[in-house]
Amino acid sequence: MKNLDEKICIIGGGPAGISAAMYLQFKGYRNYTIYERQNRVGGKCWSPKMKVNGEERTFETGAIMGAITYHAVHEVEKFAETGHFDGPNMRRMYRDAHGKEIYPFDPLHEPSIKKTKDLLELKKQMKKLVHLMETKYRGYDCYGHRGVAKGRYDGLSKGLNDSLLEIKGRNPHLKDLALPFTEFCKKNGVEDVMKIWIAPYTSFGYGFFDEIPAAYVMKYLDTTTAIEFVNLRLWTWKEGTQSIYEKANAKLIHPATLGTEVVRIERPDDGPVRVTVRDAGGEHTEEFDRLIVTTPLDHFAKYADATEEEADLFSRIIHEKYVNFIASFDQDKGPTISGYIFDNMDYHRLGHAMVYYHRWEDLKGNCPCAVYALRNHAGSKDADYDYTINAMLDDMRVCGYPVKERHFEQESYYCPHVSPEDYAAGWYDRLDAIQGTKRTYYAGEILSFGDMEDTVASSRDIVGRFF
Ligand SMILES: Cc1cc2nc3c(=O)[nH]c(=O)nc-3n(C[C@H](O)[C@H](O)[C@H](O)COP(=O)(O)OP(=O)(O)OC[C@H]3O[C@@H](n4cnc5c(N)ncnc54)[C@H](O)[C@@H]3O)c2cc1C
Repeated sequence: MKNLDEKICIIGGGPAGISAAMYLQFKGYRNYTIYERQNRVGGKCWSPKMKVNGEERTFETGAIMGAITYHAVHEVEKFAETGHFDGPNMRRMYRDAHGKEIYPFDPLHEPSIKKTKDLLELKKQMKKLVHLMETKYRGYDCYGHRGVAKGRYDGLSKGLNDSLLEIKGRNPHLKDLALPFTEFCKKNGVEDVMKIWIAPYTSFGYGFFDEIPAAYVMKYLDTTTAIEFVNLRLWTWKEGTQSIYEKANAKLIHPATLGTEVVRIERPDDGPVRVTVRDAGGEHTEEFDRLIVTTPLDHFAKYADATEEEADLFSRIIHEKYVNFIASFDQDKGPTISGYIFDNMDYHRLGHAMVYYHRWEDLKGNCPCAVYALRNHAGSKDADYDYTINAMLDDMRVCGYPVKERHFEQESYYCPHVSPEDYAAGWYDRLDAIQGTKRTYYAGEILSFGDMEDTVASSRDIVGRFF
């Protein structure tokens, strides 16, 4: 029998924490507490306002967009009584490292036999990949990574059904998903598709294809989501992605306790879980029956009484160092559309701006733009932080948009994942095996992928299976 009065502690008030509370509430649990160290919910969905031409608008410093495949986020939207139909349209162009406009996918711009041949080959390989994923790699597109390294799939279907169905099965080919994406593409004769996948993947901070297991790339950019990106059929939110989680938080029986950082966890074998938090009043300790951790697990291992298995598993987590700021420009001197700088999506150009996001079309050259760069790559030396900021500023200048001021500058703990070797060795099955040990459950980005949809779906999965 379930005890719906159990005291449950949720660490973190980002998409994973807020949705974990929502799913607990759906199941009838009413005694949960969310601790959030910041004075707002939403985590990396942070949409501050800026005044432009005398009018306040939201800008995205974190998550920007979703797609038709965002089923779990849509469940949060429904709960929050909000939607995604009012956001600005995504618009883009392409540039090279010298700031010159380029048209790599437009057969009519500077046409040549080579370009036509290359584009036809790209189209052929995209079709081939779609077919392979539906046949050879059947089952690749459920959320999460349980069993994949052993050639199994087990989780919620990411398909286009309205409801998220449980799917489970065997497919030995899935083991290939542990390969770095570059090798996965080579093995399947579809190297050209990386030219398409790279823009929504690498420029959005998710790493370089030679270091990232294909599972992360293909589960995030499953073929439907990738095609929605190509065709710019994307969801955005007028009030920003943060508003989804703020509205959902406001509907919870127990909204998040803000400004409260979890600093110590003790989980004795024979007593309740003791959670020590620090807030404006100092440190104090609360007791709980169970714990859901949605925050970085490598950090958790440092403030909790981590077991040997936890410490070993969590020490293997790698994360991206994704730097961004909102740039403002002199009157009418900024971009009028978003830009992808393809040459900079290469680890030899670490620290350079890969993309800038122009959010409000009507503000034309007066719209502050978010600028993004990655400064790490496995096997390369990190680009220094100051170097990165200067390179980003230089890149904007080369594109013709000297930055006047930077706002909301930050480096995010981004896209936690494991190496191809740890993936192949069954890291995710080891993690799943300890779910519930010491009354602790792990959710959040590492469970599936570092986007809103996968993190919310992970909370759904954890609450669904264990509560
Ligand atoms: C620049 C950028 C662009 C992005 N673009 C997109 C996009 O377009 N689409 C998309 O789907 N996703 C995007 N994302 C990713 C998306 O925002 C994240 O995957 C998502 O927010 C992860 O949710 P989470 O709850 O797991 O973690 P987080 O959002 O990181 O939330 C974790 C929360 O835990 C809190 N916390 C941490 N430690 C403690 C502690 N000890 N005690 C209490 N609280 C703590 C943090 O303050 C934070 O609020 C983007 C992110 C960034 C940064």
